[in-house]
Amino acid sequence: MAENSTEKTYDFIIIGAGVAGLAAAQYAARGGLKTLVLDLSLPGGQALTIPNLENYPGLFPSISGTDFCQNMKNQAESFGAEIIQTTVKSIDKVENTFRVETIKEKYLGYTVLIATGAGHRKLNVKGEMELEGRGVSYCATCDGPFFRNRKIFVIGGGDSACDEAMYLSTLSDDITLVHRRDELRAQKAVADRLLANEKVKVLFNSKVKEIKGEGRVQSIEIENVQTGDVTEYPTDAVFIFAGMNPVTELVEMLPKDEAGYIKTDDNMQTLIPGMYAAGDIRSKSFRQVVTAVSDGAIAAHSAGEFVRNMK
Ligand code: NAP
Repeated sequence: MAENSTEKTYDFIIIGAGVAGLAAAQYAARGGLKTLVLDLSLPGGQALTIPNLENYPGLFPSISGTDFCQNMKNQAESFGAEIIQTTVKSIDKVENTFRVETIKEKYLGYTVLIATGAGHRKLNVKGEMELEGRGVSYCATCDGPFFRNRKIFVIGGGDSACDEAMYLSTLSDDITLVHRRDELRAQKAVADRLLANEKVKVLFNSKVKEIKGEGRVQSIEIENVQTGDVTEYPTDAVFIFAGMNPVTELVEMLPKDEAGYIKTDDNMQTLIPGMYAAGDIRSKSFRQVVTAVSDGAIAAHSAGEFVRNMK
Protein backbone atom coordinates (compact mmCIF):
# COMPACT_ATOMS: atom_id res chain seq x y z
CA MET A 1 0.00 0.00 0.00
CA ALA A 2 1.19 3.54 -0.80
CA GLU A 3 1.24 4.82 2.77
CA ASN A 4 3.85 7.19 4.15
CA SER A 5 4.40 8.31 7.72
CA THR A 6 2.16 11.37 7.43
CA GLU A 7 -0.85 9.51 6.07
CA LYS A 8 -3.15 7.82 8.59
CA THR A 9 -5.11 4.87 7.26
CA TYR A 10 -8.81 4.25 7.94
CA ASP A 11 -11.21 1.51 6.94
CA PHE A 12 -13.86 4.03 5.99
CA ILE A 13 -13.53 7.74 5.24
CA ILE A 14 -16.78 9.69 5.04
CA ILE A 15 -16.82 13.03 3.25
CA GLY A 16 -19.73 15.06 4.59
CA ALA A 17 -21.19 15.06 8.09
CA GLY A 18 -24.84 15.55 7.23
CA VAL A 19 -27.31 13.00 8.50
CA ALA A 20 -26.30 10.44 5.82
CA GLY A 21 -22.62 10.76 6.78
CA LEU A 22 -23.32 10.67 10.52
CA ALA A 23 -25.56 7.61 10.22
CA ALA A 24 -22.85 5.88 8.18
CA ALA A 25 -20.25 6.85 10.78
CA GLN A 26 -22.32 5.42 13.62
CA TYR A 27 -23.03 2.14 11.84
CA ALA A 28 -19.46 1.73 10.60
CA ALA A 29 -17.79 2.55 13.91
CA ARG A 30 -20.20 0.35 15.84
CA GLY A 31 -19.44 -2.42 13.34
CA GLY A 32 -15.75 -2.17 14.09
CA LEU A 33 -14.51 -0.10 11.14
CA LYS A 34 -11.90 2.54 11.85
CA THR A 35 -13.95 5.50 10.69
CA LEU A 36 -13.13 9.11 9.87
CA VAL A 37 -15.65 11.83 8.99
CA LEU A 38 -14.52 15.03 7.27
CA ASP A 39 -16.72 18.09 6.82
CA LEU A 40 -16.01 21.74 6.21
CA SER A 41 -18.62 22.86 8.71
CA LEU A 42 -20.51 21.73 11.79
CA PRO A 43 -21.91 18.17 11.78
CA GLY A 44 -25.53 18.05 10.67
CA GLY A 45 -25.60 19.79 7.31
CA GLN A 46 -29.00 20.83 5.99
CA ALA A 47 -30.85 19.08 8.85
CA LEU A 48 -29.40 21.62 11.30
CA THR A 49 -31.84 24.17 9.92
CA ILE A 50 -35.02 22.11 10.45
CA PRO A 51 -37.01 24.00 13.08
CA ASN A 52 -39.00 20.94 14.13
CA LEU A 53 -38.25 17.41 12.86
CA GLU A 54 -41.77 16.05 12.97
CA ASN A 55 -41.70 13.21 10.41
CA TYR A 56 -38.80 11.07 11.63
CA PRO A 57 -40.36 7.74 12.66
CA GLY A 58 -40.15 7.04 16.38
CA LEU A 59 -38.96 10.53 17.26
CA PHE A 60 -42.07 11.65 19.09
CA PRO A 61 -42.54 14.24 20.38
CA SER A 62 -40.43 15.94 17.71
CA ILE A 63 -37.15 17.72 18.42
CA SER A 64 -35.24 20.44 16.55
CA GLY A 65 -32.87 19.57 13.71
CA THR A 66 -30.02 21.03 15.76
CA ASP A 67 -30.68 18.69 18.70
CA PHE A 68 -31.17 15.74 16.37
CA CYS A 69 -27.81 16.35 14.65
CA GLN A 70 -26.00 16.85 17.95
CA ASN A 71 -27.39 13.50 19.14
CA MET A 72 -26.26 11.82 15.91
CA LYS A 73 -22.77 13.27 16.26
CA ASN A 74 -22.50 12.20 19.90
CA GLN A 75 -23.78 8.73 19.04
CA ALA A 76 -21.26 8.27 16.20
CA GLU A 77 -18.41 9.48 18.42
CA SER A 78 -19.52 7.22 21.26
CA PHE A 79 -18.77 4.24 19.01
CA GLY A 80 -15.35 5.60 18.09
CA ALA A 81 -15.88 7.58 14.86
CA GLU A 82 -13.50 10.53 14.49
CA ILE A 83 -15.03 13.74 13.14
CA ILE A 84 -12.73 16.45 11.82
CA GLN A 85 -13.76 19.88 10.52
CA THR A 86 -11.69 20.61 7.43
CA THR A 87 -11.93 21.18 3.69
CA VAL A 88 -11.37 18.17 1.44
CA LYS A 89 -9.42 19.10 -1.69
CA SER A 90 -9.32 15.83 -3.62
CA ILE A 91 -9.99 12.09 -3.60
CA ASP A 92 -7.75 9.81 -5.67
CA LYS A 93 -7.52 6.08 -6.04
CA VAL A 94 -3.98 4.96 -5.16
CA GLU A 95 -3.47 1.22 -5.63
CA ASN A 96 -6.04 -0.44 -3.36
CA THR A 97 -6.84 2.63 -1.25
CA PHE A 98 -8.33 6.09 -1.66
CA ARG A 99 -6.14 9.07 -0.83
CA VAL A 100 -8.19 11.92 0.61
CA GLU A 101 -6.33 15.21 0.70
CA THR A 102 -7.54 18.06 2.90
CA ILE A 103 -6.10 21.54 3.21
CA LYS A 104 -3.95 20.25 6.12
CA GLU A 105 -3.53 16.47 5.94
CA LYS A 106 -3.70 13.44 3.70
CA TYR A 107 -5.60 10.33 4.75
CA LEU A 108 -5.85 6.86 3.25
CA GLY A 109 -9.07 4.86 3.27
CA TYR A 110 -9.86 1.33 2.11
CA THR A 111 -13.34 2.65 1.36
CA VAL A 112 -14.80 6.11 1.01
CA LEU A 113 -18.32 7.52 1.23
CA ILE A 114 -19.39 10.63 -0.64
CA ALA A 115 -22.09 12.29 1.46
CA THR A 116 -21.60 15.94 0.54
CA GLY A 117 -25.30 16.52 0.00
CA ALA A 118 -26.73 19.38 -1.98
CA GLY A 119 -26.53 23.17 -1.88
CA HIS A 120 -29.21 25.81 -2.31
CA ARG A 121 -30.25 26.58 -5.87
CA LYS A 122 -30.26 30.28 -6.68
CA LEU A 123 -32.98 32.13 -8.55
CA ASN A 124 -30.33 34.10 -10.45
CA VAL A 125 -32.37 37.28 -10.46
CA LYS A 126 -31.12 40.83 -10.09
CA GLY A 127 -30.60 41.78 -6.44
CA GLU A 128 -30.39 38.20 -5.13
CA MET A 129 -26.62 38.05 -4.84
CA GLU A 130 -26.20 41.72 -3.96
CA LEU A 131 -28.70 41.54 -1.06
CA GLU A 132 -27.79 38.10 0.31
CA GLY A 133 -27.37 38.48 4.08
CA ARG A 134 -29.23 41.81 3.88
CA GLY A 135 -32.71 40.36 3.72
CA VAL A 136 -32.14 37.65 1.11
CA SER A 137 -31.73 34.32 2.90
CA TYR A 138 -31.79 30.57 2.25
CA CYS A 139 -32.32 29.57 5.91
CA ALA A 140 -35.42 30.50 7.88
CA THR A 141 -34.25 29.14 11.25
CA CYS A 142 -30.95 31.05 10.91
CA ASP A 143 -32.34 34.41 9.76
CA GLY A 144 -36.08 34.36 10.44
CA PRO A 145 -35.80 35.84 13.95
CA PHE A 146 -34.26 39.02 12.44
CA PHE A 147 -37.59 39.63 10.68
CA ARG A 148 -40.04 39.18 13.54
CA ASN A 149 -43.30 41.05 12.77
CA ARG A 150 -41.93 42.22 9.40
CA LYS A 151 -43.08 41.59 5.82
CA ILE A 152 -41.60 38.36 4.50
CA PHE A 153 -41.67 36.77 1.02
CA VAL A 154 -40.94 33.06 0.58
CA ILE A 155 -40.07 31.72 -2.87
CA GLY A 156 -40.74 28.14 -4.01
CA GLY A 157 -43.50 25.54 -3.91
CA GLY A 158 -41.75 22.46 -2.49
CA ASP A 159 -41.59 20.97 0.99
CA SER A 160 -38.86 23.36 2.08
CA ALA A 161 -40.71 26.51 1.01
CA CYS A 162 -43.94 25.34 2.69
CA ASP A 163 -42.27 24.11 5.89
CA GLU A 164 -40.18 27.24 6.20
CA ALA A 165 -43.15 29.52 5.47
CA MET A 166 -45.02 27.72 8.28
CA TYR A 167 -42.10 28.36 10.60
CA LEU A 168 -41.83 32.01 9.54
CA SER A 169 -45.56 32.44 10.24
CA THR A 170 -44.73 31.89 13.91
CA LEU A 171 -42.62 35.05 13.73
CA SER A 172 -44.76 37.26 11.51
CA ASP A 173 -48.33 37.25 10.26
CA ASP A 174 -47.39 38.94 6.97
CA ILE A 175 -45.96 36.11 4.87
CA THR A 176 -46.36 35.82 1.09
CA LEU A 177 -45.33 32.62 -0.68
CA VAL A 178 -44.57 32.96 -4.40
CA HIS A 179 -44.75 29.90 -6.63
CA ARG A 180 -44.23 29.78 -10.37
CA ARG A 181 -46.92 27.17 -11.08
CA ASP A 182 -50.61 26.83 -10.21
CA GLU A 183 -50.14 24.08 -7.62
CA LEU A 184 -47.64 23.35 -4.89
CA ARG A 185 -45.04 20.61 -5.37
CA ALA A 186 -44.88 19.84 -1.62
CA GLN A 187 -46.26 16.61 -0.11
CA LYS A 188 -50.03 16.88 0.29
CA ALA A 189 -50.04 17.11 4.10
CA VAL A 190 -47.41 19.86 4.00
CA ALA A 191 -49.18 21.77 1.19
CA ASP A 192 -52.63 21.51 2.82
CA ARG A 193 -51.31 22.84 6.10
CA LEU A 194 -49.66 25.77 4.35
CA LEU A 195 -52.79 26.64 2.37
CA ALA A 196 -54.87 26.59 5.56
CA ASN A 197 -52.54 29.04 7.32
CA GLU A 198 -54.22 32.45 7.41
CA LYS A 199 -50.94 34.24 7.97
CA VAL A 200 -49.60 33.04 4.61
CA LYS A 201 -50.85 34.50 1.32
CA VAL A 202 -49.95 32.46 -1.79
CA LEU A 203 -49.25 34.00 -5.20
CA PHE A 204 -49.50 31.20 -7.77
CA ASN A 205 -48.28 31.47 -11.39
CA SER A 206 -45.79 34.05 -10.25
CA LYS A 207 -42.05 34.47 -10.50
CA VAL A 208 -39.52 36.86 -9.05
CA LYS A 209 -38.19 39.44 -11.51
CA GLU A 210 -36.00 41.45 -9.18
CA ILE A 211 -35.21 41.98 -5.50
CA LYS A 212 -34.65 45.64 -4.74
CA GLY A 213 -33.19 47.71 -1.93
CA GLU A 214 -30.46 50.10 -0.88
CA GLY A 215 -28.24 48.17 1.55
CA ARG A 216 -31.15 45.94 2.59
CA VAL A 217 -34.17 44.36 0.95
CA GLN A 218 -36.96 46.90 0.51
CA SER A 219 -39.16 45.47 -2.23
CA ILE A 220 -39.64 42.63 -4.67
CA GLU A 221 -40.91 42.64 -8.25
CA ILE A 222 -43.19 39.73 -9.11
CA GLU A 223 -44.32 38.83 -12.61
CA ASN A 224 -47.57 36.96 -13.22
CA VAL A 225 -46.45 34.34 -15.74
CA GLN A 226 -49.92 34.12 -17.30
CA THR A 227 -50.63 37.81 -17.83
CA GLY A 228 -47.07 39.18 -17.87
CA ASP A 229 -48.13 41.85 -15.34
CA VAL A 230 -45.36 42.98 -13.01
CA THR A 231 -46.13 44.17 -9.47
CA GLU A 232 -43.71 45.63 -6.96
CA TYR A 233 -44.42 44.67 -3.32
CA PRO A 234 -42.69 46.22 -0.30
CA THR A 235 -40.92 43.59 1.81
CA ASP A 236 -38.19 43.28 4.42
CA ALA A 237 -36.99 39.79 3.61
CA VAL A 238 -36.96 37.23 0.80
CA PHE A 239 -36.42 33.59 1.80
CA ILE A 240 -35.57 31.44 -1.22
CA PHE A 241 -36.27 27.67 -1.34
CA ALA A 242 -35.91 26.84 -5.03
CA GLY A 243 -34.52 23.34 -4.52
CA MET A 244 -31.00 22.02 -4.34
CA ASN A 245 -28.01 21.24 -6.54
CA PRO A 246 -25.85 18.21 -5.70
CA VAL A 247 -22.33 19.01 -4.45
CA THR A 248 -20.26 16.75 -6.71
CA GLU A 249 -17.07 18.75 -7.37
CA LEU A 250 -14.88 16.13 -5.63
CA VAL A 251 -16.20 13.26 -7.73
CA GLU A 252 -16.56 14.58 -11.26
CA MET A 253 -15.36 11.17 -12.50
CA LEU A 254 -18.52 9.39 -11.30
CA PRO A 255 -21.54 8.85 -13.56
CA LYS A 256 -24.54 11.07 -12.73
CA ASP A 257 -28.20 11.17 -13.70
CA GLU A 258 -29.61 13.95 -15.90
CA ALA A 259 -30.06 16.22 -12.86
CA GLY A 260 -26.44 15.73 -11.80
CA TYR A 261 -26.97 13.32 -8.87
CA ILE A 262 -24.56 10.37 -8.43
CA LYS A 263 -25.79 7.00 -9.59
CA THR A 264 -25.38 4.07 -7.17
CA ASP A 265 -26.73 0.55 -6.87
CA ASP A 266 -28.99 -0.55 -4.00
CA ASN A 267 -25.90 -1.02 -1.80
CA MET A 268 -24.90 2.65 -2.32
CA GLN A 269 -21.95 1.45 -4.43
CA THR A 270 -20.86 3.88 -7.17
CA LEU A 271 -19.14 2.78 -10.35
CA ILE A 272 -15.81 2.71 -8.48
CA PRO A 273 -15.48 -0.35 -6.16
CA GLY A 274 -15.07 0.79 -2.55
CA MET A 275 -16.51 4.24 -3.24
CA TYR A 276 -20.08 4.79 -2.01
CA ALA A 277 -22.55 7.69 -2.15
CA ALA A 278 -25.38 8.38 0.30
CA GLY A 279 -27.97 11.03 1.09
CA ASP A 280 -29.10 13.96 -1.02
CA ILE A 281 -26.18 13.67 -3.43
CA ARG A 282 -27.44 10.29 -4.62
CA SER A 283 -29.81 9.76 -7.54
CA LYS A 284 -33.19 8.79 -6.02
CA SER A 285 -36.79 9.90 -5.95
CA PHE A 286 -37.40 10.78 -2.29
CA ARG A 287 -35.08 12.98 -0.23
CA GLN A 288 -35.83 13.01 3.46
CA VAL A 289 -33.82 12.81 6.68
CA VAL A 290 -35.03 9.24 7.08
CA THR A 291 -33.95 8.21 3.56
CA ALA A 292 -30.54 9.86 3.99
CA VAL A 293 -30.05 8.00 7.28
CA SER A 294 -31.06 4.75 5.59
CA ASP A 295 -28.58 5.36 2.74
CA GLY A 296 -25.83 5.97 5.30
CA ALA A 297 -26.53 2.77 7.20
CA ILE A 298 -26.55 0.72 3.98
CA ALA A 299 -23.31 2.34 2.76
CA ALA A 300 -21.60 1.50 6.07
CA HIS A 301 -22.76 -2.09 5.84
CA SER A 302 -21.47 -2.36 2.24
CA ALA A 303 -18.15 -0.77 3.19
CA GLY A 304 -17.79 -3.25 6.06
CA GLU A 305 -18.22 -6.19 3.70
CA PHE A 306 -15.76 -4.66 1.22
CA VAL A 307 -13.11 -4.14 3.91
CA ARG A 308 -13.55 -7.66 5.34
CA ASN A 309 -13.18 -9.19 1.85
CA MET A 310 -10.12 -7.08 1.20
CA LYS A 311 -8.38 -7.91 4.44
P1 NAP B 1 -37.89 20.93 -4.44
O1 NAP B 1 -38.82 19.87 -3.99
O2 NAP B 1 -37.02 20.69 -5.62
O3 NAP B 1 -38.77 22.24 -4.71
C1 NAP B 1 -38.19 23.41 -5.25
C2 NAP B 1 -39.29 24.39 -5.54
O4 NAP B 1 -38.68 25.58 -6.05
C3 NAP B 1 -40.26 23.89 -6.60
O5 NAP B 1 -41.57 24.24 -6.24
C4 NAP B 1 -39.80 24.61 -7.86
O6 NAP B 1 -40.85 24.91 -8.74
C5 NAP B 1 -39.26 25.90 -7.31
N1 NAP B 1 -38.21 26.47 -8.15
C6 NAP B 1 -37.11 25.86 -8.64
N2 NAP B 1 -36.37 26.72 -9.38
C7 NAP B 1 -37.04 27.89 -9.35
C8 NAP B 1 -36.81 29.16 -9.93
N3 NAP B 1 -35.72 29.42 -10.67
N4 NAP B 1 -37.71 30.13 -9.72
C9 NAP B 1 -38.80 29.89 -8.96
N5 NAP B 1 -39.09 28.72 -8.38
C10 NAP B 1 -38.21 27.73 -8.57
O7 NAP B 1 -36.88 21.40 -3.28
P2 NAP B 1 -37.07 21.46 -1.69
O8 NAP B 1 -38.40 21.97 -1.30
O9 NAP B 1 -35.86 22.18 -1.19
O10 NAP B 1 -36.96 19.96 -1.24
C11 NAP B 1 -35.78 19.19 -1.56
C12 NAP B 1 -36.00 17.77 -1.12
O11 NAP B 1 -36.06 17.70 0.32
C13 NAP B 1 -37.32 17.21 -1.63
O12 NAP B 1 -37.12 15.86 -1.96
C14 NAP B 1 -38.24 17.34 -0.43
O13 NAP B 1 -39.29 16.39 -0.41
C15 NAP B 1 -37.30 17.14 0.74
N6 NAP B 1 -37.81 17.88 1.93
C16 NAP B 1 -38.72 17.25 2.72
C17 NAP B 1 -39.25 17.91 3.82
C18 NAP B 1 -40.28 17.23 4.68
O14 NAP B 1 -40.49 16.04 4.54
N7 NAP B 1 -40.98 17.95 5.55
C19 NAP B 1 -38.85 19.23 4.12
C20 NAP B 1 -37.93 19.82 3.28
C21 NAP B 1 -37.42 19.15 2.18
P3 NAP B 1 -41.62 23.74 -9.56
O15 NAP B 1 -42.51 23.07 -8.58
O16 NAP B 1 -42.34 24.50 -10.63
O17 NAP B 1 -40.55 22.86 -10.12
